Amino acid sequence: MWQWQDVVLTIINFGFMVTAIPAVKQGTAEVSLAALDDAAVIDDIVFSTDSHTVQPLIFPGGSIGSLAVCGTINDVAVVGGSPCALSAAFIIEEGFSLDTFEIIVKSMAHTADKAGVPIITGDTKVVEKGAIQQFMINTSGIGKRSEVLDKNITEVKRHRKFTQRWLLDSNLSEGDVLLLSGNIGEHGIALLSFREGYGFETAIKSDIAPLNGLMGKLLAEGGIVSAKDPTRGGLANTVNEFSEKSKVGVLLNEDSIPIPEGVRSACNILGIDPLEIGNEGKVILGVVKEKADDVLAVLKKHPLGKHAAVIGEITNKVSGVVMQTTVGGKRIVRKPLGDPIPRIC
Ligand code: MG
Repeated sequence: MWQWQDVVLTIINFGFMVTAIPAVKQGTAEVSLAALDDAAVIDDIVFSTDSHTVQPLIFPGGSIGSLAVCGTINDVAVVGGSPCALSAAFIIEEGFSLDTFEIIVKSMAHTADKAGVPIITGDTKVVEKGAIQQFMINTSGIGKRSEVLDKNITEVKRHRKFTQRWLLDSNLSEGDVLLLSGNIGEHGIALLSFREGYGFETAIKSDIAPLNGLMGKLLAEGGIVSAKDPTRGGLANTVNEFSEKSKVGVLLNEDSIPIPEGVRSACNILGIDPLEIGNEGKVILGVVKEKADDVLAVLKKHPLGKHAAVIGEITNKVSGVVMQTTVGGKRIVRKPLGDPIPRIC
Protein backbone atom coordinates (compact mmCIF):
# COMPACT_ATOMS: atom_id res chain seq x y z
CA MET A 1 0.00 0.00 0.00
CA TRP A 2 1.37 3.40 -1.01
CA GLN A 3 1.70 5.95 1.75
CA TRP A 4 2.55 9.63 1.63
CA GLN A 5 6.23 8.88 2.28
CA ASP A 6 6.32 6.82 -0.92
CA VAL A 7 4.87 9.66 -2.92
CA VAL A 8 7.46 12.05 -1.49
CA LEU A 9 10.13 9.50 -2.45
CA THR A 10 9.22 9.87 -6.09
CA ILE A 11 9.30 13.65 -6.24
CA ILE A 12 12.18 14.95 -4.14
CA ASN A 13 15.90 14.52 -3.94
CA PHE A 14 17.03 11.12 -2.72
CA GLY A 15 19.64 12.29 -0.23
CA PHE A 16 17.28 14.86 1.24
CA MET A 17 14.64 12.21 1.62
CA VAL A 18 16.92 9.86 3.52
CA THR A 19 17.93 12.51 6.04
CA ALA A 20 14.56 14.26 6.31
CA ILE A 21 12.24 11.26 6.37
CA PRO A 22 13.76 8.49 8.48
CA ALA A 23 10.32 6.82 8.54
CA VAL A 24 10.96 5.24 5.12
CA LYS A 25 11.38 1.61 6.10
CA GLN A 26 14.40 -0.32 4.88
CA GLY A 27 13.21 -3.83 5.71
CA THR A 28 16.06 -6.34 5.89
CA ALA A 29 18.33 -4.54 3.40
CA GLU A 30 21.98 -5.26 4.16
CA VAL A 31 23.00 -2.15 2.18
CA SER A 32 20.07 0.26 2.39
CA LEU A 33 19.04 3.58 0.92
CA ALA A 34 20.69 5.27 3.89
CA ALA A 35 24.13 4.19 2.63
CA LEU A 36 23.56 6.24 -0.56
CA ASP A 37 25.91 3.84 -2.32
CA ASP A 38 25.81 2.88 -6.02
CA ALA A 39 23.39 0.03 -5.34
CA ALA A 40 21.47 -1.54 -2.47
CA VAL A 41 21.73 -5.15 -1.28
CA ILE A 42 18.99 -7.36 0.10
CA ASP A 43 19.25 -11.14 0.55
CA ASP A 44 22.52 -11.11 -1.42
CA ILE A 45 20.74 -9.53 -4.40
CA VAL A 46 22.27 -6.26 -5.59
CA PHE A 47 19.65 -3.79 -6.82
CA SER A 48 20.06 -0.41 -8.49
CA THR A 49 17.87 2.02 -10.41
CA ASP A 50 18.55 5.19 -12.35
CA SER A 51 16.65 7.59 -14.59
CA HIS A 52 18.34 9.08 -17.61
CA THR A 53 17.62 12.38 -19.28
CA VAL A 54 20.31 13.73 -21.53
CA GLN A 55 20.51 16.17 -24.43
CA PRO A 56 21.29 15.41 -27.20
CA LEU A 57 19.89 11.87 -27.15
CA ILE A 58 22.57 10.65 -29.57
CA PHE A 59 26.14 11.94 -29.21
CA PRO A 60 29.75 11.01 -30.11
CA GLY A 61 30.45 7.63 -28.53
CA GLY A 62 26.90 6.66 -27.53
CA SER A 63 23.26 7.49 -26.89
CA ILE A 64 20.86 7.80 -23.98
CA GLY A 65 20.24 4.06 -24.54
CA SER A 66 23.84 2.85 -24.12
CA LEU A 67 24.23 5.35 -21.26
CA ALA A 68 21.23 3.89 -19.40
CA VAL A 69 22.37 0.28 -19.85
CA CYS A 70 25.99 0.95 -18.84
CA GLY A 71 25.07 3.26 -15.96
CA THR A 72 22.94 0.60 -14.31
CA ILE A 73 25.27 -2.34 -15.01
CA ASN A 74 28.16 -0.32 -13.61
CA ASP A 75 26.32 0.65 -10.42
CA VAL A 76 25.62 -3.03 -9.71
CA ALA A 77 29.17 -4.10 -10.64
CA VAL A 78 31.04 -1.54 -8.49
CA VAL A 79 29.31 -2.71 -5.32
CA GLY A 80 30.70 -6.18 -6.13
CA GLY A 81 27.57 -7.70 -7.68
CA SER A 82 27.56 -9.76 -10.84
CA PRO A 83 24.84 -8.05 -12.96
CA CYS A 84 22.32 -10.58 -14.31
CA ALA A 85 19.28 -8.68 -15.63
CA LEU A 86 17.94 -5.22 -16.44
CA SER A 87 14.58 -3.53 -16.82
CA ALA A 88 13.98 -0.56 -19.10
CA ALA A 89 11.07 1.88 -18.93
CA PHE A 90 10.60 4.62 -21.53
CA ILE A 91 8.67 7.86 -21.17
CA ILE A 92 8.18 9.30 -24.64
CA GLU A 93 6.83 12.68 -25.72
CA GLU A 94 3.99 12.49 -28.24
CA GLY A 95 5.31 12.86 -31.81
CA PHE A 96 8.81 11.54 -31.01
CA SER A 97 10.74 10.30 -34.08
CA LEU A 98 10.43 6.55 -34.61
CA ASP A 99 13.82 6.51 -36.34
CA THR A 100 15.51 8.00 -33.28
CA PHE A 101 13.63 5.56 -31.05
CA GLU A 102 14.94 2.68 -33.15
CA ILE A 103 18.53 3.92 -32.91
CA ILE A 104 18.25 4.24 -29.12
CA VAL A 105 16.67 0.82 -28.61
CA LYS A 106 19.21 -0.84 -30.91
CA SER A 107 22.07 0.76 -28.97
CA MET A 108 20.56 -0.54 -25.72
CA ALA A 109 20.25 -4.05 -27.14
CA HIS A 110 23.79 -3.97 -28.52
CA THR A 111 25.29 -2.70 -25.25
CA ALA A 112 23.34 -5.17 -23.10
CA ASP A 113 24.40 -7.99 -25.42
CA LYS A 114 28.05 -6.93 -25.29
CA ALA A 115 27.90 -6.86 -21.49
CA GLY A 116 26.09 -10.22 -21.31
CA VAL A 117 23.26 -8.71 -19.23
CA PRO A 118 19.79 -9.14 -20.83
CA ILE A 119 16.96 -6.62 -20.62
CA ILE A 120 14.14 -8.88 -19.46
CA THR A 121 11.28 -6.54 -18.59
CA GLY A 122 10.14 -3.06 -19.47
CA ASP A 123 7.42 -0.49 -20.00
CA THR A 124 6.55 2.35 -22.38
CA LYS A 125 4.45 5.43 -21.63
CA VAL A 126 3.65 8.20 -24.11
CA VAL A 127 2.91 11.64 -22.63
CA GLU A 128 1.44 14.71 -24.30
CA LYS A 129 3.67 17.14 -26.21
CA GLY A 130 5.54 19.48 -23.88
CA ALA A 131 5.16 17.28 -20.78
CA ILE A 132 8.81 16.17 -21.00
CA GLN A 133 11.80 16.99 -23.18
CA GLN A 134 11.46 14.28 -25.87
CA PHE A 135 12.50 11.05 -24.16
CA MET A 136 13.52 9.57 -20.83
CA ILE A 137 14.65 6.11 -19.77
CA ASN A 138 14.61 4.48 -16.37
CA THR A 139 16.70 1.35 -16.01
CA SER A 140 16.94 -0.95 -13.02
CA GLY A 141 19.38 -3.80 -12.61
CA ILE A 142 19.84 -6.77 -10.36
CA GLY A 143 23.01 -8.69 -9.65
CA LYS A 144 24.09 -11.67 -7.64
CA ARG A 145 26.85 -12.41 -5.19
CA SER A 146 29.69 -14.16 -6.99
CA GLU A 147 32.57 -16.47 -6.13
CA VAL A 148 35.07 -13.86 -7.26
CA LEU A 149 33.69 -11.36 -4.74
CA ASP A 150 34.25 -13.87 -1.94
CA LYS A 151 37.73 -14.60 -3.28
CA ASN A 152 38.48 -10.87 -3.36
CA ILE A 153 37.41 -10.42 0.24
CA THR A 154 39.47 -13.41 1.38
CA GLU A 155 42.48 -11.73 -0.26
CA VAL A 156 41.72 -8.39 1.48
CA LYS A 157 41.59 -10.18 4.84
CA ARG A 158 45.07 -11.61 4.29
CA HIS A 159 46.38 -8.05 4.50
CA ARG A 160 44.13 -6.14 6.88
CA LYS A 161 41.08 -6.32 9.13
CA PHE A 162 37.93 -6.23 6.99
CA THR A 163 34.38 -6.96 8.13
CA GLN A 164 32.28 -5.92 5.12
CA ARG A 165 30.71 -8.25 2.51
CA TRP A 166 30.39 -5.67 -0.32
CA LEU A 167 32.58 -2.97 -1.89
CA LEU A 168 31.08 0.02 -0.11
CA ASP A 169 32.19 3.66 -0.25
CA SER A 170 32.63 3.48 3.54
CA ASN A 171 35.21 0.63 3.51
CA LEU A 172 38.45 2.59 3.10
CA SER A 173 41.06 2.89 5.82
CA GLU A 174 44.55 4.28 6.43
CA GLY A 175 47.13 2.83 4.06
CA ASP A 176 44.73 1.83 1.25
CA VAL A 177 45.65 3.00 -2.25
CA LEU A 178 43.35 4.59 -4.87
CA LEU A 179 43.51 3.40 -8.48
CA LEU A 180 41.71 4.93 -11.47
CA SER A 181 40.96 2.72 -14.48
CA GLY A 182 41.72 5.30 -17.20
CA ASN A 183 41.38 8.76 -18.72
CA ILE A 184 38.85 11.11 -17.17
CA GLY A 185 36.61 13.79 -18.66
CA GLU A 186 35.75 12.28 -22.03
CA HIS A 187 32.01 11.71 -21.57
CA GLY A 188 31.21 15.17 -20.21
CA ILE A 189 33.39 17.07 -22.67
CA ALA A 190 32.21 15.08 -25.71
CA LEU A 191 28.59 15.69 -24.82
CA LEU A 192 28.92 19.33 -23.82
CA SER A 193 31.00 20.11 -26.88
CA PHE A 194 28.65 18.35 -29.30
CA ARG A 195 25.62 20.02 -27.75
CA GLU A 196 27.07 23.53 -27.71
CA GLY A 197 28.94 23.21 -31.02
CA TYR A 198 32.45 23.83 -29.63
CA GLY A 199 33.98 21.18 -31.91
CA PHE A 200 36.15 19.31 -29.37
CA GLU A 201 34.04 16.19 -29.89
CA THR A 202 35.83 15.41 -33.17
CA ALA A 203 38.78 14.29 -31.01
CA ILE A 204 36.97 13.27 -27.82
CA LYS A 205 34.24 10.64 -27.64
CA SER A 206 32.20 9.52 -24.64
CA ASP A 207 33.90 6.71 -22.69
CA ILE A 208 30.58 4.85 -22.13
CA ALA A 209 31.34 1.19 -21.40
CA PRO A 210 29.98 -1.64 -19.25
CA LEU A 211 32.43 -2.38 -16.44
CA ASN A 212 31.13 -5.77 -15.28
CA GLY A 213 33.70 -7.79 -17.26
CA LEU A 214 36.59 -5.71 -15.94
CA MET A 215 35.25 -5.83 -12.36
CA GLY A 216 35.07 -9.63 -12.56
CA LYS A 217 38.75 -9.82 -13.52
CA LEU A 218 39.76 -7.37 -10.79
CA LEU A 219 37.86 -9.27 -8.11
CA ALA A 220 39.51 -12.51 -9.24
CA GLU A 221 42.89 -10.86 -8.58
CA GLY A 222 41.66 -9.65 -5.17
CA GLY A 223 42.49 -6.96 -2.64
CA ILE A 224 39.74 -4.44 -3.53
CA VAL A 225 37.89 -2.83 -0.61
CA SER A 226 35.83 -0.12 -2.38
CA ALA A 227 34.84 0.73 -5.94
CA LYS A 228 32.82 3.53 -7.49
CA ASP A 229 32.18 4.83 -10.99
CA PRO A 230 33.00 8.57 -11.17
CA THR A 231 29.84 9.65 -13.02
CA ARG A 232 27.99 12.78 -11.94
CA GLY A 233 30.41 15.26 -10.38
CA GLY A 234 33.39 13.28 -11.69
CA LEU A 235 36.46 12.20 -9.76
CA ALA A 236 36.12 15.12 -7.32
CA ASN A 237 32.68 13.97 -6.21
CA THR A 238 33.57 10.28 -6.02
CA VAL A 239 36.71 10.76 -3.95
CA ASN A 240 34.90 13.15 -1.59
CA GLU A 241 32.19 10.53 -1.09
CA PHE A 242 34.89 7.97 -0.24
CA SER A 243 36.43 10.43 2.23
CA GLU A 244 33.13 11.40 3.91
CA LYS A 245 31.65 7.91 4.16
CA SER A 246 34.89 6.18 5.22
CA LYS A 247 35.83 9.14 7.48
CA VAL A 248 39.37 9.19 6.08
CA GLY A 249 41.73 11.69 4.47
CA VAL A 250 42.63 11.24 0.80
CA LEU A 251 45.86 12.55 -0.73
CA LEU A 252 45.70 12.63 -4.54
CA ASN A 253 48.68 13.10 -6.83
CA GLU A 254 47.79 15.46 -9.70
CA ASP A 255 50.64 14.22 -11.93
CA SER A 256 49.32 10.67 -11.92
CA ILE A 257 45.68 11.44 -12.85
CA PRO A 258 45.28 10.52 -16.54
CA ILE A 259 43.67 13.44 -18.39
CA PRO A 260 43.82 13.33 -22.22
CA GLU A 261 45.30 16.42 -23.84
CA GLY A 262 42.03 17.18 -25.69
CA VAL A 263 40.05 17.17 -22.43
CA ARG A 264 42.68 19.32 -20.73
CA SER A 265 42.61 22.00 -23.44
CA ALA A 266 38.80 21.95 -23.68
CA CYS A 267 38.63 22.43 -19.90
CA ASN A 268 41.11 25.31 -20.05
CA ILE A 269 39.08 27.08 -22.73
CA LEU A 270 35.71 26.47 -21.04
CA GLY A 271 36.96 27.15 -17.51
CA ILE A 272 35.92 23.72 -16.20
CA ASP A 273 37.82 21.50 -13.74
CA PRO A 274 38.43 18.09 -15.40
CA LEU A 275 38.13 16.45 -11.97
CA GLU A 276 34.46 17.54 -11.86
CA ILE A 277 33.43 16.13 -15.26
CA GLY A 278 31.24 13.01 -15.43
CA ASN A 279 32.59 9.73 -16.84
CA GLU A 280 30.57 6.66 -17.90
CA GLY A 281 33.15 3.89 -18.32
CA LYS A 282 35.62 4.39 -15.49
CA VAL A 283 36.02 3.04 -11.98
CA ILE A 284 37.97 4.29 -8.97
CA LEU A 285 39.15 1.46 -6.74
CA GLY A 286 40.31 1.40 -3.14
CA VAL A 287 42.84 -1.41 -2.83
CA VAL A 288 44.95 -2.74 0.04
CA LYS A 289 48.46 -1.43 -0.61
CA GLU A 290 50.03 -4.91 -0.83
CA LYS A 291 47.82 -5.68 -3.86
CA ALA A 292 48.00 -2.30 -5.64
CA ASP A 293 50.63 -3.39 -8.19
CA ASP A 294 48.83 -6.65 -9.01
CA VAL A 295 45.46 -4.90 -9.47
CA LEU A 296 47.10 -2.22 -11.62
CA ALA A 297 48.63 -4.94 -13.82
CA VAL A 298 45.19 -6.55 -14.34
CA LEU A 299 43.73 -3.14 -15.23
CA LYS A 300 46.45 -2.37 -17.77
CA LYS A 301 45.96 -5.71 -19.51
CA HIS A 302 42.24 -4.99 -20.06
CA PRO A 303 41.03 -2.84 -23.00
CA LEU A 304 39.13 -0.58 -20.56
CA GLY A 305 42.14 -0.12 -18.28
CA LYS A 306 44.99 0.76 -20.63
CA HIS A 307 45.55 4.18 -19.03
CA ALA A 308 45.02 3.02 -15.44
CA ALA A 309 47.10 4.58 -12.69
CA VAL A 310 47.62 4.77 -8.95
CA ILE A 311 46.23 8.24 -8.18
CA GLY A 312 46.39 8.57 -4.41
CA GLU A 313 46.37 7.10 -0.95
CA ILE A 314 44.28 7.06 2.20
CA THR A 315 46.13 8.87 4.95
CA ASN A 316 45.32 10.57 8.23
CA LYS A 317 47.98 13.17 7.45
CA VAL A 318 45.27 15.17 5.62
CA SER A 319 41.58 15.69 6.28
CA GLY A 320 39.07 15.62 3.44
CA VAL A 321 40.50 15.41 -0.08
CA VAL A 322 43.80 17.13 -0.77
CA MET A 323 45.79 17.06 -4.01
CA GLN A 324 49.53 17.31 -4.35
CA THR A 325 49.76 19.59 -7.39
CA THR A 326 52.12 19.43 -10.36
CA VAL A 327 53.75 22.72 -9.32
CA GLY A 328 54.57 21.37 -5.87
CA GLY A 329 51.77 22.83 -3.75
CA LYS A 330 48.68 21.30 -2.22
CA ARG A 331 45.04 22.14 -2.92
CA ILE A 332 41.76 21.05 -1.42
CA VAL A 333 39.53 19.14 -3.85
CA ARG A 334 35.90 19.90 -3.02
CA LYS A 335 32.65 18.31 -4.11
CA PRO A 336 31.25 20.15 -7.14
CA LEU A 337 28.41 22.49 -6.25
CA GLY A 338 25.10 21.45 -7.84
CA ASP A 339 24.34 19.48 -10.98
CA PRO A 340 25.24 20.46 -14.52
CA ILE A 341 22.09 21.53 -16.42
CA PRO A 342 21.24 20.46 -19.12
CA ARG A 343 22.17 17.06 -17.79
CA ILE A 344 24.87 14.82 -19.22
CA CYS A 345 23.75 11.53 -17.61
MG1 MG B 1 27.61 5.04 -9.51
